[in-house]
Amino acid sequence: METVSQLSLLLYPPATFDELISRRHDCAALSVAVNTRLRRGWQVRSQPLSSTRQLIIPSYLADAPEEIKTCLIEWALLPYRISRLHKAVLRERRSSLEKRIWSYIQSLPHAPRRGSRFNPARFSGDTAGSVYDLREVFDSVNAAWFEGKLAALVRWGDASSKTSYHMAKTDAAGNKVHLITIAGLYNHPRVPRFAIEAIMHHEMLHIAIPPYRKNSRAVIHGKEFREAEAKFTWFHEWRVWEREQVPFLLKRRWFKR
Ligand SMILES: [Zn+2]
Repeated sequence: METVSQLSLLLYPPATFDELISRRHDCAALSVAVNTRLRRGWQVRSQPLSSTRQLIIPSYLADAPEEIKTCLIEWALLPYRISRLHKAVLRERRSSLEKRIWSYIQSLPHAPRRGSRFNPARFSGDTAGSVYDLREVFDSVNAAWFEGKLAALVRWGDASSKTSYHMAKTDAAGNKVHLITIAGLYNHPRVPRFAIEAIMHHEMLHIAIPPYRKNSRAVIHGKEFREAEAKFTWFHEWRVWEREQVPFLLKRRWFKR
């Protein structure tokens, strides 16, 4: 019997996504598309109005074995809205499906790396804004508050962005690289020097005081962070400025260059 089943595996190509979907009774509304530009991972898009979903896969998953295709289909059909009680079950189910899919991907001869391969060269571009040069702001805050010890790439966010953030990445050589993005909102002549320094100081503190885990939750702005942040000379002026001036800037769209 063993020989026969092995033989049939050789004779019949693995079922396609469409065949696997048509065998199920719970996923008539799922379609699968290959996106050749998808370098790693896979995605699901949903059209809430028609309650259909589209699973988008990179080309190297198009010929995956049936078991992996089934995992992908099940992953794409995981419920979005779920009671608190079922949240843990759902999370476990999702992570077990993802583990199986990733272990297949990593077994491929030219396995794409899990996680991003960060290329710092892409972010060492122009840091000059309408008034402030982020490189200069970073260097002066670094010298005044961090003994010049921090290193990071800095960039402006989109002209209409309202959020600044810090990311830690690993480059191809395995080095940790910090990237600070300052919201486009701050790229405006009406933004005072203390405000750009304060937001930079906040993002730099994320390098000096990295997030840690406590009770399986990530603590990003913990007590230590808040205390260090409040020591910044212009901290309170900045908080007041943000509260009073930012809504005004947003409303007048002054930040859109
Ligand atoms: Zn923060």
